[in-house]
Amino acid sequence: MPPVQPEQRELLAWYAANRRDLPWRATRDPYRVLVSEVMLQQTQVARVLPFYQRWLELFPDERALAAASDAVLHRAWKGLGYPSRAERLRATCAAVLARGAWPNDPAGLEELPGIGPYTARAVAAFAFGHPVAVLDTNVARVLCRRDGLDPAQGRAALQQAAEDALCRPQAVAWNNAMMELGALVCTARAPACAACPWAGRCRAARDPGRLAATAAPLKAATVKQAYGDPAPPRGTPVVKVVLALIHHDGRYLAQRRPADKHAGGVWELPGGKVEAGEDERRALAREVAEELGAEVLAARHLLTWHHRYPDRWVRLACYRVRLFAPEAVRPLASDGVQWFAPADLLAQVFPAGTAPLVARMRKYHRIAPRG
Ligand code: SF4
Repeated sequence: MPPVQPEQRELLAWYAANRRDLPWRATRDPYRVLVSEVMLQQTQVARVLPFYQRWLELFPDERALAAASDAVLHRAWKGLGYPSRAERLRATCAAVLARGAWPNDPAGLEELPGIGPYTARAVAAFAFGHPVAVLDTNVARVLCRRDGLDPAQGRAALQQAAEDALCRPQAVAWNNAMMELGALVCTARAPACAACPWAGRCRAARDPGRLAATAAPLKAATVKQAYGDPAPPRGTPVVKVVLALIHHDGRYLAQRRPADKHAGGVWELPGGKVEAGEDERRALAREVAEELGAEVLAARHLLTWHHRYPDRWVRLACYRVRLFAPEAVRPLASDGVQWFAPADLLAQVFPAGTAPLVARMRKYHRIAPRG
């Protein structure tokens, strides 16, 4: 192990004196670490604290969470936003139970459903003590400012910079210290450089332009993936279509196109044209009622893209949908309906226009394209 460097000692001393007493810092239980990481992904610490405590009373371990029904799960998550995070947590726990144990390194953790590269590193570092750098927006901001890095060089380069800066002999304290400095001192809009242990080493201190350019470095470093064809030229007639990605208990609903129709026998998502005077949500509710005899409980926009057919442009908007009575769906406009596990659904052949949605779902579920 390399010795602790002077600038590392400065930050660790600052952290020892200024750290907040947060409950997830007092555990090495991978389940509890994961819960905190997922809750903190899009929610502030102060808001997460009461939810975290309550969640662990309701679901003290992975077995309790894996057994939770949709209703119990969503009730417990209500108020935190982005409920798909709760479903991903449950899916991760179910996969851990199926394997019999938690993987303890980033590569193994990334194989679990619902765990991406950032979360895998965070769990590996905080639960299993792996000497890996955890790069969140706070850490990236501190590094960009201290070392004069350009966020536009991309996430991989920032991750490498974080690895280079990592204090390996004290990796857990180091990762926490970097996050804490970004959260409490090197904030996006008003960094308190006078209180910073690195004020004398920092390239951005007293440089308003550099401070502003590095306020949200991971946004600048992330190139958004584009789905579908580019938007058609202005004035082109476009047919608007809505699709319902209906989910229940970890499975998705698809319906089989009638044998006597174009592409008969192919599985597709329920949905159809948005009619004149309708908005997307109203069209979605109508299509679900007409095609499945079901009522929409909740719908959340997932993805919109354009697809160019030889004779027309179509704009497709897909919503993640939950139903009031998912068990009661009926094939009113198809040759059958079926609930699919994600991998089974994505193994089907879908109409060409839905390829962008399939790509997005593969990315979300971390399922490789068919060979
Ligand atoms: S000196 Fe200021 S800009 Fe630099 S790392 Fe510290 S708080 Fe951030």
